[in-house]
Amino acid sequence: MSTEDCRVAAVDAIVLRAAQLGAGDLDAAQDTVLVRVFDEVGREGIGEADAPAELVRDLILMADAHGWSRGLARVVIGRDPVAAVAAHEAMYQASIWHGRRGLGIHAISAVDIALYDLAGKQTARPVHALLGGARRRTARPYATVWPGPARDRSLSAIMDDIAERVAALTSSGFRAVKVELLPDLPATDRDLVACVRQARDMVGPDVAMLVDFGYRWRDWRAAQWMLSKVDDCDVWLAEATLQHDDLDGHARLSAAVSTRIGGGEMAATRWECREWIERGRVDVLQPDVNRCGGLSELRRIADMADLYGVSVVPHGWKTGITAAATRHLQITVDNMPYIEMLSPGQSPSLLRTRLVGPEPAVVNGLIEVSDEPGLGVVVDEQVVCDTRVEARP
Ligand code: MG
Repeated sequence: MSTEDCRVAAVDAIVLRAAQLGAGDLDAAQDTVLVRVFDEVGREGIGEADAPAELVRDLILMADAHGWSRGLARVVIGRDPVAAVAAHEAMYQASIWHGRRGLGIHAISAVDIALYDLAGKQTARPVHALLGGARRRTARPYATVWPGPARDRSLSAIMDDIAERVAALTSSGFRAVKVELLPDLPATDRDLVACVRQARDMVGPDVAMLVDFGYRWRDWRAAQWMLSKVDDCDVWLAEATLQHDDLDGHARLSAAVSTRIGGGEMAATRWECREWIERGRVDVLQPDVNRCGGLSELRRIADMADLYGVSVVPHGWKTGITAAATRHLQITVDNMPYIEMLSPGQSPSLLRTRLVGPEPAVVNGLIEVSDEPGLGVVVDEQVVCDTRVEARP
C-alpha cells in the first residue's frame, strides 16, 4: 500500500438522533454527530463529538473563509492519518479565528478520533498502539448512576431508583460507580448528607463511589460543610461541586477538604486544563475525549497532569465510539485511574446501545481492550439509517 493510498480522501459528518430521548431527559446520548473519514481505497475511520451535532457538522464541512477560518474536512483531506498529531495542529491553526476553545475544539475532537481509527485500520494496529503502546491489557471504568431528571418524584422514590440501578450495575461487573445527586433533587444540603450515606450503604464497602453534585453550590464553604459531614463515607471523588468556571472556589475547596475534588468536564484543550490544575488546584481533571480535542489532546493533557501529580478521569456520555476511544487511551497512561462509562444496560438510547459494536463485557470491574485494528468497533448501518437527521436544505 503506497502512502498515496493512505491519504484522507473524503470526510463526512452525519447528524444522528435517538427517538427514545428528548431534550427534557438531560441525556447526552440522545444524539451524536458521526464523523467518517475515508482514504483512497475506501477504508474508514469513525469519530464523534458531544456538542450540538448540526453545528459540529457545519464546522467540519464548511467552506473555507480564510486561512485561520477553514472547514476541518478541507484541512485533513490529503493528509496521512498516521500523522494525527500534525493533523490536529493543522486543524487547530486553520480554525483558530472561530475555534480555539469550545465548539471549535469539540469539532476537532471528532475528526481526531476518526483519524486514529483510520490509521489503525491502515496499519492493522489497535489505537492504543498508535498512542504509544498499552501498559496493561484492561481498562477500568466507573458506571454513572443517572436516575433521570427528578421531575415530580419524591426524594425517597429517586433514592430507590438509584438503589435499583446500583444493584444492576454491580451485578453486571462494575466495581466503581458514580451517583448523581443533582440540584433538581428535592433535597436540602442536610438531606443530601443522608443521601450520600444511603448511597454508600447501597454501594457497599468494596465498590468505589464517586458523587456528582451537578454544580450545586456557589459558596465553597457550603460545599466544604457538606463534604466534611460525609468524610467517613469514602467518597472517591466529588464532582461538579462549585460552578464550572469558579476556579478560585475550587482551589479553596480543594485545600479545605480531604476528598478529591474534580473538575473540567467542559474543558477544551490542554491550555484550559492547565488553568484547572494551576489555578483550580483540582485533584482530578475530567475532560472528555470527544470535547477536549480528541485523542491527541487528551494524551497531552494526561502527560501534563502527570507532571503535577494530578489524575485524569475523563467524562464520557455518548456512544460506543467515545467509550472505545477512552478505553484505548486509558491503558496507555498511568494517571487515569478510572474512565466514565455510560453503561449500555442503563441507556435507553439506541445510539448508545447499538450504533457500534461489539460492546465489551465488564468483568470484575475491568474491560479487556480490543487488539483489533483501530478502535475495534464497527458501525451498524441500519442504526445510522434509522436515526439519521437529514441535512438542512
Ligand atoms: Mg459530569
